[in-house]
Amino acid sequence: MTNPFRQLPSIDRLLARPELVETIAMYGRAGVRDIARDLLGETRVAIRKGATPPEIDELITQLLARIRREFSPSLRSALNATGVIIHTNLGRAPLSLAAREAMMAAAAGYGNLEYDLEQGRRGSRYVHAERLLCRLTGAEAALVVNNNAAAVTLVLRHLARGREVIISRGELVEIGGGFRIPDILQQSGARLVEVGTTNRTRLADYAIALGSDTAAILKVHQSNFRIVGFSESASLAELVRLVNDWVWPVPVINDLGSGTLLDTRPFGLAYEPTVQDSVQAGANITTFSGDKLLGGPQAGVIVGDKAIIEALKLEPLTRAMRVDKITLAALQATLMAYARETAVEEIPVWRMIAAQPEALAHRAESWADALVAAGLPVELRPGQSAIGGGALPGQTLPTTLLAVLSDKPQSLAARLRANDPPVVARIEEDAVVFDPRTISPDEEPGLLRAIQDAWAQ
Ligand SMILES: *Cc1c(COP(=O)(O)O)cnc(C)c1O
Repeated sequence: MTNPFRQLPSIDRLLARPELVETIAMYGRAGVRDIARDLLGETRVAIRKGATPPEIDELITQLLARIRREFSPSLRSALNATGVIIHTNLGRAPLSLAAREAMMAAAAGYGNLEYDLEQGRRGSRYVHAERLLCRLTGAEAALVVNNNAAAVTLVLRHLARGREVIISRGELVEIGGGFRIPDILQQSGARLVEVGTTNRTRLADYAIALGSDTAAILKVHQSNFRIVGFSESASLAELVRLVNDWVWPVPVINDLGSGTLLDTRPFGLAYEPTVQDSVQAGANITTFSGDKLLGGPQAGVIVGDKAIIEALKLEPLTRAMRVDKITLAALQATLMAYARETAVEEIPVWRMIAAQPEALAHRAESWADALVAAGLPVELRPGQSAIGGGALPGQTLPTTLLAVLSDKPQSLAARLRANDPPVVARIEEDAVVFDPRTISPDEEPGLLRAIQDAWAQ
């Protein structure tokens, strides 16, 4: 019997194969050699366990696939056909053209990030989005950090470390991804004082809890869940009135979560408190995300009383959570669309929310026509798109879904995810369904090609 290991080529013989010339030119000899060594090593282990030695052609196919994988970034663009607009797993808000251009410009060269061009000396990065944020929200001051979780942590740590924070039991929520309000309070060194019950918290409950050690009252948007039925909660305005009548000032912090600048009601959605509403109601601090309903980059925005925000800027922890120039550029460009009152036209999240049912039906029909012509079994179905991102739970928008019928929808969906670019769609019992709401018109050709390829396999 021949030695099975003999049939394996040496690394040098493998790298000398003509099939690898182009790959080595593209990725470099050292990298290809490392990957080849790993592959040969693993193959030897497999042979030792009884596997048949692969033919050299098979080995080269495996090697090429592995090189392609190793040299392609793991973070990839994907098509979101789920109809969930702020899809946290798929990267939340896609950015406007203006925001993308601003990011490119900021990334490509130097800028006045921390430089005062008028005075010719060191400036602050915190000034950049501040004026716009104040103008848009009515707040005295603003500060941008990495994300809203950081914003909440910073604020609590600054205002309440070692002291008490009063919060309703109905607002001790987990937002997802391990962000739990009680944990954040603990991390920030504040002592949690729970009031009321899960479904009902009255103003009087807060009033009883107020004491000499109260550092703040925290109100948290319930985000991705709702308590319906026998429920009651104190409004922000009531809480502000309560602390204003208290013997000394106790700040009210409002974590809005999604934080919209636009009224959601004209779009057929329930009322969602805007940042302006929070400021106007008298919240001393309001925090929200940059990449939820604002439709911008990942960021945490803090707006409110000037004295608190100025002190926050000096906290060492703020430095550790500071926002980078590329994010700031995108955020400013996004806010500018609100200032120009063109947010609904410019910002993808709002364009998707505002998409008319007839227009969506029309697009789904044109997809169906193309796929029927290619011989695929498809049908159109009425459906619902979701907002996502913890904003407006249970609220949906009517849409028309394209259903590609299949007795194995799971495997069809898996092939779609393996496409380049990957397509993520909703799986139903008898079909994979695609919502035009979260597919932009320029993504349509790629989507239709992916569906046909996945179907043909
Ligand atoms: C989403 C959310 C957060 C966390 O915001 P990130 O920007 O994801 O860090 C905090 N609080 C509420 C109420 C939220 O909805």
